[in-house]
Amino acid sequence: MQRIVIKVGSHVISEEKKLSLERIKNLVEFLAKLMEKYEVILVTSAAISAGHTKLDIDRKNLVNKQVLAAIGQPYLISVYNEFLAHYNKIGGQILLTGKDFDSIKATKHAKNAIDTMINLGILPIINENDATAIEEIVFGDNDSLSAYATHFFDANLLVILSDIDGFYDKNPSEFKDAKRLNKVDKILDSWLDMPIKTGSEHGTGGIITKLKAAKFLLENNKKMLLASGFNLNVAKTFLLENKQIGGTLFENF
Ligand code: ADP
Repeated sequence: MQRIVIKVGSHVISEEKKLSLERIKNLVEFLAKLMEKYEVILVTSAAISAGHTKLDIDRKNLVNKQVLAAIGQPYLISVYNEFLAHYNKIGGQILLTGKDFDSIKATKHAKNAIDTMINLGILPIINENDATAIEEIVFGDNDSLSAYATHFFDANLLVILSDIDGFYDKNPSEFKDAKRLNKVDKILDSWLDMPIKTGSEHGTGGIITKLKAAKFLLENNKKMLLASGFNLNVAKTFLLENKQIGGTLFENF
């Protein structure tokens, strides 16, 4: 079975100081379907937003973000598990930092755990360990972590479910005439120099970290699909029917 990583951004599963239970429910329904066809690993953001539903402290302050993530992470996992139970499935939490991938030993231990979970029909749910991984908390939102997970845990496709439905030739929130690129086989340096704007206060990654994730995967001969997490049709059709009807597919041709 082909192994895939699905990454979901904070903005997709949270809104206005609360988790979007409707979107998490739809996502889990999709994941349960995917688990029949693929070996699936989920990378999820939104621990901080989940924490904010329980404790109203200023989320701009770094240490407060760590506290919110500490409160929110177990809550987030419990919400996933509540919905997974409808499909007789369970999810297991794996907390990593980018640095874990610098260590062959740590990567191997994590991979062993993930391989075994997959063999047991469990959904591995990865998130950044926000108590130690300060860099990703400030900027990154799991885009690079999900690219590393795809490569080092032997998946060949990363699907990023974002608040944007693909990569555009210019920022679509600023330019009405921006065009979505359907397929991309090379990340241009000029794209990486684009001014950074994120979709909302929930998302921290912006498009640059997604392009860097795609660049890393292309260099390692892997694929990445960037598609909307609000409407899962593009991701569904791509993964379940093998047809690309939208999004941006980063692939070496
Ligand atoms: P997520 O929360 O899903 O990780 P972000 O909000 O951090 O996503 O990043 C995606 C946002 O980046 C988009 O909503 C859009 O506003 C912005 N963006 C800037 N330039 C581009 C571009 N060329 N193509 C697509 N999105 C862009």
